[in-house]
Amino acid sequence: MIDFTLTSEQKALQQVAREFAQDVLKPIVREADAEPDPQKGFQMIKPAYEKAYELGFAMCFLPKEYGGGGVSNVDLLIAAEEITAVDPGFGCVLLVNGLALLPLVWFGKEEQRKKWLTLACNDPKKSFLAGWVVSEPAGSPGGTANFDHPSPQAGIQVTADLKNGEYVINGRKYWPSSAAGWDMQGADVSVVVVRTDRQKGGKGGLSCIIVPRGTPGVTYEPCIDTMGHRLNQNCDIRYDNVRVPEENVFALGEGDLVISKAFTWSGPVAGIAGVGVARTAYEYALNWAKTYTAGGLDPIIYHQNVGYMLTDVAMKIEAARYLSWKAAAYADSYDCENYSLGAMSKIFGGETAMQCVYDCMRVVGINSYDRRSHPFDKLMRDVLCFPIYDAGNMGMQRRKIWGMLAHPSFNPRSFVDHELVEFTREMEGIGSVTARPGAA
Ligand SMILES: Cc1cc2nc3c(=O)[nH]c(=O)nc-3n(C[C@H](O)[C@H](O)[C@H](O)COP(=O)(O)OP(=O)(O)OC[C@H]3O[C@@H](n4cnc5c(N)ncnc54)[C@H](O)[C@@H]3O)c2cc1C
Repeated sequence: MIDFTLTSEQKALQQVAREFAQDVLKPIVREADAEPDPQKGFQMIKPAYEKAYELGFAMCFLPKEYGGGGVSNVDLLIAAEEITAVDPGFGCVLLVNGLALLPLVWFGKEEQRKKWLTLACNDPKKSFLAGWVVSEPAGSPGGTANFDHPSPQAGIQVTADLKNGEYVINGRKYWPSSAAGWDMQGADVSVVVVRTDRQKGGKGGLSCIIVPRGTPGVTYEPCIDTMGHRLNQNCDIRYDNVRVPEENVFALGEGDLVISKAFTWSGPVAGIAGVGVARTAYEYALNWAKTYTAGGLDPIIYHQNVGYMLTDVAMKIEAARYLSWKAAAYADSYDCENYSLGAMSKIFGGETAMQCVYDCMRVVGINSYDRRSHPFDKLMRDVLCFPIYDAGNMGMQRRKIWGMLAHPSFNPRSFVDHELVEFTREMEGIGSVTARPGAA
């Protein structure tokens, strides 16, 4: 049955999320966003994070048996839209707990799940943070998009060598959220994607390692000073002979599959974050258009171009919301195996949101450019992130869909029939090997 009606439980969830966002989060957003020191800005959100933890938002996606909320992906989106409409950077902090800890649910061992998920869901301080540590610094080679490249010299370059029952980690990661923690001494736990086999490429050479807070040899450089999403912390991390017990590894040789699945699960959440930001811009522009006359006698909504533009913005927001809901419903049906639809909802939600915020600025006109009096400076800085974070739309998300479409097994009717489109390792790696002009 296709039914877009919210149940009474979903309406209640939406209401709790909306009240949290308006009453707890909103009062701190402006100051935290304006704070020039990114770490100080991150620390300013801690009381709101603790409240979010208490309300269950920080770990709602983890299974109930470990103390998590066990919410469906659809319910998660209903709450996420309300929070990201007020601040997507804060939403990102919550999202990253899922990116880091859900791989344990899908690929981890039961002892690891019991230990780390139970700790994450039952923190008496209500401030537990998990780091999802994949991305690497720019360089040649460097970067992240080609994690599934067949050469061991390309893709993920942080290494972990097994010596005497311990993995020894070396290298540098750049961008991961929350990993430095509230005090720059580390998140409570980080899940780090590393190369455990120096002879193998991205498919087969990568694994995940659980690195607890306080592990010697991990150092944190000053946080990245981002244009937007400033309530989120982006880290620069160095690993210098960091030793962790062998039992902390999981998905051995399957780190590529973890990256593909985690950045698929997050797709609809990032998509709805775009919807949240676009919704805020739209509601502001609509109200402006109904009250501002631009020197004429009537509000500008009575100019046809203004009406048409706002109509298009409203339509695009609805379309992006329902694609995210569909991708989430599909994830609920197939244990988060929503690779294509998850990626589509992330791409569409973020890119649509960018256009919507800009169109709202055009509707409001020159006054939208006034930072002090109107919210568009922050909305624009925040929205610019969507196409390039959470696995960039070009090098990672579109490439993932392309790999599936190109595979002989792909059935284009799968989405309309709501059937499982199986994702296999054969679909990874497409487009990662290039033919440079003049190369032998
Ligand atoms: C707010 C925020 C939060 C973040 N949180 C985290 C986190 O928690 N953990 C984490 O690990 N990272 C995090 N990141 C980093 C982020 O997830 C990036 O999406 C990721 O590093 C990949 O970026 P990229 O696709 O631009 O890769 P890059 O490797 O930097 O690629 C750059 C560009 O090159 C092009 N390109 C490269 N290869 C190809 C190809 N094969 N085909 C086509 N085009 C290609 C694409 O246009 C791509 O966009 C965060 C970033 C931000 C801003």
